[in-house]
Amino acid sequence: MIVDERLVTYINSLDTGNTAMLDQIEREATADYVPIIRKEMQSFLKFLLAMKKPARILEVGTAVGFSAILMAEYDPVPCQITTIENYEKRIPIARENFKRAGKEAQIALLEGDAAEVLKTLEGPYDFIFMDAAKGQYIHFLPDALRLLRTGGVLVSDNVLQDGDIIESHYAVERRNRTIYKRMREYLYVLKHTDGLLTSIVPVGDGAAVTVKQKDTICL
Ligand code: SAM
Repeated sequence: MIVDERLVTYINSLDTGNTAMLDQIEREATADYVPIIRKEMQSFLKFLLAMKKPARILEVGTAVGFSAILMAEYDPVPCQITTIENYEKRIPIARENFKRAGKEAQIALLEGDAAEVLKTLEGPYDFIFMDAAKGQYIHFLPDALRLLRTGGVLVSDNVLQDGDIIESHYAVERRNRTIYKRMREYLYVLKHTDGLLTSIVPVGDGAAVTVKQKDTICL
């Protein structure tokens, strides 16, 4: 946890919560050890959706559909969501959850590796939520930016890696070093590329919120 645990508990205690169906899906995901966005991130996402009101949303990393349903539920305008997942076991559960929540017409689940699927998509999307394998974000970025509307927002979750991101290379466990290096590169690119404006926020496990300000972005 990157923010004092008691502070997070306090902040979450103020939250007014989600729909009963989202609570149920969250409980099931937690019981099955499926990683889904944390309470603080749920609240932040709802806030961003209220502000941005995106009509077309792209999500990379569906898991069992919790965040896609949350976005469909709390976007103040009717929206269409495309979400990508490559873990076969989770795909039927996500589809079933979309049905249970009455969101199957609003959410299209694309099966496969996002690195391949992203190349087949056409934009523009108003809002992109990146929540898949952290080491792949840097590889997904060119397509994500191609697909994002100018003025659109890219939210990348879990970017601070439980605080590992500020450690020296040697202090990071060997098996995490590639992800560490790629995430540091990703954050550097988001902060230093002309036409991108990014704020890195210590919410949940860290979120980078990026606005695309120019039509053409040269990485
Ligand atoms: N956004 C979901 C939520 O909050 O309900 C949680 C997503 S979970 C943290 C990340 C998901 O991304 C996993 O289910 C994983 O299988 C999927 N994933 C990881 N790498 C992927 C890739 N290259 N292509 C498609 N899906 C991927």
